[in-house]
Amino acid sequence: MVMQSYSYLEESHVCPHCKQKMSCCEAPAIHVGDGLGWGSDVLFICLNDVCPLFLKGWDHVDGQYGHHASYRYMELPGSKEGNVMMVGNKDAFKASVVDPEAIKTQNVRYAKEKEAIKALDTCVVDNNLEPVLTLLLDNAAGKENKQLALQRLLQINSLDCIDPLRNHEFRETYFEQDINMAISQILKNNFKKECPYCSEIIKAQAKKCLHCKEDL
Ligand SMILES: [Zn+2]
Ligand SMILES: [Zn+2]
Repeated sequence: MVMQSYSYLEESHVCPHCKQKMSCCEAPAIHVGDGLGWGSDVLFICLNDVCPLFLKGWDHVDGQYGHHASYRYMELPGSKEGNVMMVGNKDAFKASVVDPEAIKTQNVRYAKEKEAIKALDTCVVDNNLEPVLTLLLDNAAGKENKQLALQRLLQINSLDCIDPLRNHEFRETYFEQDINMAISQILKNNFKKECPYCSEIIKAQAKKCLHCKEDL
């Protein structure tokens, strides 16, 4: 994923033909006609099926070019300059509508992942579990980074990681197994174990649980 400007997420475009809010759509890879890209990943397009431009377009295209198509009104991000896109049916572009809120959420997640990866270099010295847990608990984080975070987890060797890891639902079984092995190792390194009855962390040699009073 390439970092780029997402300022278009804050933009609102209104179609001058129908006064309806325009949809933010993924731009087609190539600008059909001149072979150049749009210079933008998204386009704002009026997808209103009763937009006068769209309704009148069928007759216009038929009269001009003799084929079955119409126009959708279009603006580029950061511009109010009017363009039109030729479409062969009313559903064109509807599948490529992007949800700005979803993209914003993805960007926040991605930025956090990037920051955590950077912090892996210093987290052992800083005794800082936070970036490690950020990566381990982020189901969407990259596999290699999660494996590296797992190594750092063992190096930091802090029992504080156990609760957040135990409370998380891991998507992949193999990774959950890696996590369980790491937890066992950290408990062992700290001369601790988890009580089989109440799951509290107790001394490895304990014969009776300090928390639930069960005999072990
Ligand atoms: Zn319109
Ligand atoms: Zn117990």
